[in-house]
Amino acid sequence: MRDVTSRLREALRSFEPYDPAFSPCRVNLSANENTHPMPPELRAAIDEALLSTPLNRYPDPMANELRDALAARHGTDRSRVIVGNGGDELLFNLLFAFGGPGRSVVTCPPDFAEYANFAQMCEAPVRRVPRDPRDFSIDADALAAAAADAAMVILTSPNNPTGDLAPRALVRRLLDETDALVLVDEAYVEFAPEGSSVVDLVAQSPRLMVLRTLSKAFGLAGARLGYLVADPAVVDALAAVRQIYSVDVLAQAVGLAAVTHRDLMAGVVADIVAERGRLAAGLAELPGVSAWTSAANFVLARVPDAHRVWERLRDEHSVLVRDFSSVPGLEGCLRLTVGTRAENDALLDALAVLTRRDSQS
Ligand code: PMP
Repeated sequence: MRDVTSRLREALRSFEPYDPAFSPCRVNLSANENTHPMPPELRAAIDEALLSTPLNRYPDPMANELRDALAARHGTDRSRVIVGNGGDELLFNLLFAFGGPGRSVVTCPPDFAEYANFAQMCEAPVRRVPRDPRDFSIDADALAAAAADAAMVILTSPNNPTGDLAPRALVRRLLDETDALVLVDEAYVEFAPEGSSVVDLVAQSPRLMVLRTLSKAFGLAGARLGYLVADPAVVDALAAVRQIYSVDVLAQAVGLAAVTHRDLMAGVVADIVAERGRLAAGLAELPGVSAWTSAANFVLARVPDAHRVWERLRDEHSVLVRDFSSVPGLEGCLRLTVGTRAENDALLDALAVLTRRDSQS
C-alpha cells in the first residue's frame, strides 16, 4: 500500500520504531538493568514455578495471585494493585485512560522520555516544567501552577536520568493544591534510602498513583512486569481498558515466585548501592568529569567531549552506556548504569584512558 503515512492518525506520524541504539558489547551498562547474577535459590524457585505452569490455558487476566503478593508487600489489598506488561504498559494505559485532547499532562524534563511520547500518542497536551539545570531540582511553585487544571502530573522518584528523589512534601502539595491525578514513578526506589517511597500515602489520597516495576531491583526486565498501587477506582478504570492478557502465564509465575522470595534479592540491591558509591568515587577522580548524586542504579555524569567518549567506550573498549549529550539540559552527559564490581572497574578504567588530557581527539 502506497502513502501509508498520510493514512496514519496525525498524532502518530512523527513516531519512529524504538531503537535502543544497542550494539553487542562486552559490558552493557546502557539500559539501567540489574546486571548482577540472580541468587541461585531465587532462580531455582522461578524455574520450578515455570516448570509447573500449564501453557494451554489463558492467563488470569488480572493476575490475582500476583496482585495479592504485591499487595501484601505494601500492606494493602488487591483492589489497590494492577499489574502490567512492564511499567511501560501501565504508563501508556494511564495516559490512554486519563489523558487525551484537552487533558494536559505535566512533566518535569529531563525525565523518562516515554511520558511525553505516550501523552503525544494519546493526544494529551504536554506541559513541561523544566528542572534547574544545575541540580535538577523542581520549581514547586511553577509545577503547582502548571498542574492546577491539568489531568495528570508525573514525578519520577528517583528520576531517570538524573537520579534525584522527588520531595515527599512536593507530592503532598500537589495533592493538596491541585485537582490533578499525581503519578509518582518509583521504578528505581528500591535503590534509594529507606523511607523514600510515597506508596504509604496512596491509602489517604485517591488521586495518588505509584508505579513500580520488577525490571530493576528484582532483575526481571526480560519478564515484563510492572504494577501500579492506586485507588480502587483507578485500578478499575485501567482494568477496563487494558489488553486483557498482556501479562502472560509465564510472567505471572515468575513474578509470583520473585515477589514471594523477595528477601533473596536484598543482598543484590545492597551490592548495587555499594557499587554506586564506588563508581561515583571513581568518577570524581577523573579529570573534568562531574557526577550528580543518585538514589537509583545509575549515575549521570558530565564528561568532556561526551559524545566522542561514548563512541570510543563502545568501539575501543566494548563498554556501552547511554548518551544523553544531545538532550536539552543534559549537554555533555552520559548515563552510567551501576553494574557488577568487574563491570564498573572496566568502565572506570576505560574512562580513565579516554579522559586523559592527552587522549582527547
Ligand atoms: N519508569 C522509568 C523511570 C523507567 O526508567 C522505566 C524503564 N527504563 C520504566 C518506568 C519502565 O520500565 P519497565 O517497562 O521495564 O517496567
